[in-house]
This record gives sequence, C-alpha cells and structure tokens, in this order.
Amino acid sequence: MLKYTRGDLMFKKFKKNKNTWEDTPTHIYKENPDIFKDVTRQVLFDGAFDLPVQFRYFQVEEGGYSSLEHHEHSHFVMIYKGKGHVLLENEVHEVEEGDILTINSWQWHQFRADRGTLLGFLCMVNIERDRPSYPTEKELEDLRSNKNVPEFLDGKLQKK
Ligand code: MN
Repeated sequence: MLKYTRGDLMFKKFKKNKNTWEDTPTHIYKENPDIFKDVTRQVLFDGAFDLPVQFRYFQVEEGGYSSLEHHEHSHFVMIYKGKGHVLLENEVHEVEEGDILTINSWQWHQFRADRGTLLGFLCMVNIERDRPSYPTEKELEDLRSNKNVPEFLDGKLQKK
C-alpha cells in the first residue's frame, strides 16, 4: 500500500502553447500504424499518498489514433483538447473538449483524431493493472458488424 508522506508538494505549470506540463517528459510512441499512430503520453501523477492511480495526458495528432484494445482494468477519461471520435465497445461517439466517459472491464476502445484537429484526453487508471490485448481477426469482424464501426476503423467517418 502507498505510504502517506506529509509535506510532499507537487505543483506544475501547464504550458498552454505546447500542451505540456513542467518537468513532465513527453513520451513519443514508436510509429506503428498497425497499432497506433501519432500518440504522445505524459504521466501527470504516478500514484502517491492515498491515491493509487496514474493520471495521464494522451495527445493524438490530427489523423492519428490510439490502439484498439481491451483489458480487465478500467479507465476514466476526460477530453481535454480538440475533438474526434471514440469507439466504445460496439458504439462510435463524437467527442470534444469537456466530454467524459468510462471504459469498463473488457470493453473495446480506440480514440481517433479524425475531425480535422488533434484530440487530447486525460486518463485515470489504477497503478496496478493488466496489459491490453488486441482483437483477433474474428473479434475485429464482429466489431465491424456494428453501425459506423467500419467507417470509424477505416478513418472515413464524416468530419463534423
Ligand atoms: Mn486502454
């Protein structure tokens, strides 16, 4: 269990022009268009005190996408910058700044910056969590049988 340490302080300024925070490295994912494209990650909070969570900021550049995955652990997500679409299990939703969603156990999910701008989102997870897995051919075929999902996955949803 995490130890509560009295006296620890954390204060970081947000750099509006760059969408980064002070003293917070931006991890650039290796380009792998099969899994994800143009995504960066900043870890804003890495579990401390009585809060066993990680709080991250992901930024998907225009035309990019996060991995299509599922896992046992859940996410709490808030859209922080820009807009795009999210696949949540078998539904596609338009998302923009301020929208919030949860991704529950084993729900398929993917974020796409497919509406003419970047998509930045904050994501909270437990610090202890399982690794994601990716759809099999069969699972992908099942996913594609849902309304709007093929267009979403092929990056062909109408930009609005
Ligand atoms: Mn995930």
